[in-house]
Amino acid sequence: MIPFLDLKNINAQYRNELIEACTRVVDSGWYIGGSELESFEQNFAEYCGTKYAIGVANGLDALILTLRAWKELGKLQEGDEVIVPSNTYIASILAITANNLTPILVEPDVNSFNIDPERIKQAITNKTKVILPVHLYGQLANMPEIMAIAKKNNLLVLEDSAQSHGASIDGKKAGNWGDASGFSFYPGKNLGALGDAGAVTTNDPELAEMLKALRNYGSHEKYKNLAPGVNSRLDEIQAAMLNVKLLYMDQEVEHRRKIAQLYLQGIKNPLIHLPLQNVDAEKYDQHVWHLFVVRSEKRDKLQKYLADHGVQTLIHYPIPPHKQQAYQEWNHLNYPISEQLHSQVLSLPMGPTLLFNDVKSIILLCNQFVDK
Ligand SMILES: *Cc1c(COP(=O)(O)O)cnc(C)c1O
Repeated sequence: MIPFLDLKNINAQYRNELIEACTRVVDSGWYIGGSELESFEQNFAEYCGTKYAIGVANGLDALILTLRAWKELGKLQEGDEVIVPSNTYIASILAITANNLTPILVEPDVNSFNIDPERIKQAITNKTKVILPVHLYGQLANMPEIMAIAKKNNLLVLEDSAQSHGASIDGKKAGNWGDASGFSFYPGKNLGALGDAGAVTTNDPELAEMLKALRNYGSHEKYKNLAPGVNSRLDEIQAAMLNVKLLYMDQEVEHRRKIAQLYLQGIKNPLIHLPLQNVDAEKYDQHVWHLFVVRSEKRDKLQKYLADHGVQTLIHYPIPPHKQQAYQEWNHLNYPISEQLHSQVLSLPMGPTLLFNDVKSIILLCNQFVDK
């Protein structure tokens, strides 16, 4: 059986260091808001190239609290429109509706899976205040164009970088393009904690200050509350785990890139469409391959065939947000590109401990797949 992602194996690589870090926190007697968080925030900001990183409880909170902070700072108000891709994971959209802002769903480019800048332009109205691009599957959205559109129309940009730690264009990393960026360190993400965790990166000191207050009851100074905040903190143990795992993330991504190259060069079957091959030498650092997503008109058959041969695959995602019961008011709407993608995408095994021999077996199986 080849699993989709082997988290146990991934963390076993760093077992001693993780236990040491954990022990350090246990013995310190300090469990919230201490030196582990402070050093992780510094390390992660430095990694992304931003002035600030603010740890929060999870990736969804990173997005929710950033929009909330902009409301508190007078940059947004209820009812403002936020442009977001129609094929994203639902969390990107929940962050918008949780703030009583209005999501405007915009279709992706079918090859890159990322939001289409031309369609962003068409969706802008006088109520549009934010573009929320999602760097889906490990690849940055077209940020040079998106930032140009934002500048021209005086819009804020909040990146959803939950799937793209370290991905870059022209050396500029995810989290350092927009006015702010939300990251998730959910265990299965490319930088994964051993529990829930998230962060916001930004270069804006005013936003950083507001986020630090909001994650802690709205209090930046003990017993003094600026705004009605929440409890959304990144605890010391998770920060300590992340300090260890950040050291190895780039090396893990290199392994993912090698696997992606094997898939891209090896899979040759007209029934299976490969992801856009934009990993030529020059742009090699663009993609961090959080997921390796192929498309097939015979997706369900392909998934069953691979499962029958011992290969676990997943679908990211089977139901588009506008067809979810949570958003019944959109169920009648049509987003044909998203709907096509949701019926065709399949994520093959991908991860830092996946063996090249297993990748070769998967490629062989893919090439032998027939529609019968
Ligand atoms: C994982 C993910 C989130 C949410 O992160 P959590 O830490 O699980 O709350 C948001 N957006 C995208 C695109 C994600 O993949």
